[in-house]
Amino acid sequence: MALMPQSFRTRLVVLCGGLGLLIGLPAYLYIDHVYAQRLLEDRGEALHEQAVAVAAVIAENLNERRREVELLARTPLFRKAPLDSVEFQPSLERLQKSYPAYSWIGLTDVDGVVRASTGGLLMGADVSQRPWFTGGQKGPHLGDVHDALLLSRLLRPEPDGAPIRFIDFSVPVFDDSGRLRGVLGAHAHWRWAGEVLQVLKSRDTDRGGLEYLIVNRQGRVIHPERDAMPLSLAERLRTQPVVIDRWGGQTEYVTTLAPVRDIVPEAPLGWQVVVRQPLHTVIADVAELRHAVLLFSLMAGLTLCLLAWWAAGRLSTPLEHLALQARRIEQGDESAELAITGSTREVVHLGEALRSMAATLIHRREALEASNHALEARVEERTAELARLNDELREQARRDALTGLPNRLAANERLREEFVRMKRMRTAYAVLVLDIDYFKRINDTHGHPAGDAVLRHVSGVLRGALRESDFVARFGGEEFLILLPATPLNDAVAVGEKVRCAVESSPTAAVGAVTLSIGLAMADPTHQDEDVAVRAADALLYQAKSAGRNRLIGPKAA
Ligand code: GH3
Ligand code: MG
Ligand code: MG
Repeated sequence: MALMPQSFRTRLVVLCGGLGLLIGLPAYLYIDHVYAQRLLEDRGEALHEQAVAVAAVIAENLNERRREVELLARTPLFRKAPLDSVEFQPSLERLQKSYPAYSWIGLTDVDGVVRASTGGLLMGADVSQRPWFTGGQKGPHLGDVHDALLLSRLLRPEPDGAPIRFIDFSVPVFDDSGRLRGVLGAHAHWRWAGEVLQVLKSRDTDRGGLEYLIVNRQGRVIHPERDAMPLSLAERLRTQPVVIDRWGGQTEYVTTLAPVRDIVPEAPLGWQVVVRQPLHTVIADVAELRHAVLLFSLMAGLTLCLLAWWAAGRLSTPLEHLALQARRIEQGDESAELAITGSTREVVHLGEALRSMAATLIHRREALEASNHALEARVEERTAELARLNDELREQARRDALTGLPNRLAANERLREEFVRMKRMRTAYAVLVLDIDYFKRINDTHGHPAGDAVLRHVSGVLRGALRESDFVARFGGEEFLILLPATPLNDAVAVGEKVRCAVESSPTAAVGAVTLSIGLAMADPTHQDEDVAVRAADALLYQAKSAGRNRLIGPKAA
């Protein structure tokens, strides 16, 4: 799958090309094979028919020669005239003129002595031992190709110096009573065969390399001159009409054979006509067809691929467009239009579905954003309220419920703050610890609620007697703590006295006047912590109690 291209379009084209190849190639090979075989068979058949036709023409030609000689022998001249008649030579020469292949025609007597001949050649010669004479005595005779013997010296030699060769036609000459008078014989020049074949071959000029051969009974090729036919080929041709063979070289030939009908059954020649053609010229047409089929297949494949490319484009272009638009929407461009025009129904449906999905998603996102905003606002509101409540709680935790003064927790925090500031600024502060005298007695005498009322009253007096910047807290049951920031000892003593007097001189409605005992200490930067001063003030408070109460005792140095 890794080799497969990613784009739908390329995939489809590759698929179509592959499919075309898958279908086209076997078809091409099949056509190629079948056609080649058929062509070979057809051509083999045609060659065979040609061989049969050539054999028939040769047989017919031989038959004609035989008949010519036979008819001449039956003319009254040959039946009746004395053998020394001067009439014979013109008669023989007329026949020779009618068919120029006749090299020599002659008449012998019964003893085989030539009595008349064309051109007067061999007159008086004894041919009694020659096969044409001995054969011609008994009946029509046809002699196979042979070299000229006696005539070779008398006739015009061949241009290439090759021996002159003949075939012989001879017939007996009878008188009217049926008695043998002699033998009429004709030697046809062997170029006759070449001429006959040439005429036939010239009709078939469009076939390259076509060869006609005549083979005799012994397998000798008598026309044209060449080596004998191999026995193996002869054997194969006996059983098969068409054979592919390499006889006489490297070229393969489609070879076929037809026997030449024997004209004189008593003296059969046993000739055969072989027709052959080089295999490569026979199948040249196949190569042409192969090219044509291949070209057609390639063109068809290419067309198929182009069609696939086009069709895939029609499908994939709108899809790519959709994907692009979807990507734009994803990146926040909500104006992107998920529209498809002029495409297949499925793609249009897909576009619609995506468009509606995008609209729904956008709508949901907006709703979510709105609800998010509302939620954030509410959280903010709640957080503010919580902070306020927190502050309130913090405030409450540091305020005494009965008197409304800061409580001990607040006092401790303030002491700590002031101590830190003093360390930084080197400004001393005073700490006063105050305790109501005989308070237990008030409770005991007037009841607890009266005690509470005294505590509230004292708180109010203390607050009224102090400046805004001073700090006063309820430090314990009926104990108070005053912190005077940046106040020297003398001023602090004065403030303490002022407070003590204010309480003493403002009687309560329920129990009358109450007094306070006060211990005063100065915080010092050398102190380890803020409690040092508080403990010192506390200790001095007890001294004040011991000394008779309703008094302030500060540090000895004061
Ligand atoms: P001293 O002069 O030595 O200070 O005598 P005292 O009676 O004031 O001494 P003590 O500390 O023994 O008594 C304090 C009493 O204050 C004890 C307690 O019942 C009372 N008390 C403490 N807190 C409150 C309060 O919030 N309300 C009331 N009514 N009484 C309280
Ligand atoms: Mg007390
Ligand atoms: Mg007391």
